[in-house]
Amino acid sequence: MGVLRELLAGGMEVEPKDAAAGAEALRAQAEAVKDCCKCGLCSERTQVVFGVGSPIADLMFVGEGPGYHEDRLGEPFVGRAGKLLTELLAGIGLTRADVYIANVVKCRPPENRDPLPDEIEACSPHLMDQIAVIRPRVVCTLGRFATHLLAGTELSITAIHGKAKDVTLAGVQTVIFPVFHPAAALYTPANRTVLEEDFGKLRKLLSMEPAAGLDQPPTERPAVDEPDEPALPESPVMVFRRDSTGGEKQLPLW
Ligand code: URA
Ligand code: SF4
Repeated sequence: MGVLRELLAGGMEVEPKDAAAGAEALRAQAEAVKDCCKCGLCSERTQVVFGVGSPIADLMFVGEGPGYHEDRLGEPFVGRAGKLLTELLAGIGLTRADVYIANVVKCRPPENRDPLPDEIEACSPHLMDQIAVIRPRVVCTLGRFATHLLAGTELSITAIHGKAKDVTLAGVQTVIFPVFHPAAALYTPANRTVLEEDFGKLRKLLSMEPAAGLDQPPTERPAVDEPDEPALPESPVMVFRRDSTGGEKQLPLW
């Protein structure tokens, strides 16, 4: 059964999440990773940038790797791209505390170069450990490195941004939702518009309520629950397809 279908059927959350236990598990992981030297990035970092946010988040973001400010402060997405991420979150009624934010590599690549394949491979178990604890309903990948790693695809982000895919990561059934990296929107207003539209879709995806039965169409939470919500950009909503046989493969969309 696809994850979205299960989500909609209300059959996915087996065990309720425990915030205190999750926070403690993440704290222990961060402690275990703080002296990690499994790849060459350990030699030039100021500190490991493990991750930040709610241990029981429904929505997790995964970026590429720490930059200058993140390396100094020890927190992901605190520079200019981070400010944009915070604004995009506010645009869909969320704060950083509502979500969890991490990166593919936890140490800053020198001169902000792209992470190398062996660095990504060395660091990905840390990310998988985080996912196993947080059990997010949706993992929003920011840019191509996180998307390629977690969605196991080489398709370009331009082709698949704003579209969902069922995946199982670290034993957790979840949904990948790729978007452009916020850094790509800092100087390109058109990319910012695309990001805003995709965040609108993300909100719709997260607000899908478990349907009473599998045959019912997805329902959205009534707007009355969220009176202060900003208006959504006008863009097509996620398409939740059922195949013609009514079978299990409702997704992937790509
Ligand atoms: N870009 C990223 O990919 N991650 C960060 O933490 C900051 C900028
Ligand atoms: Fe360890 Fe990851 Fe840092 Fe490499 S990037 S040293 S694997 S924490």
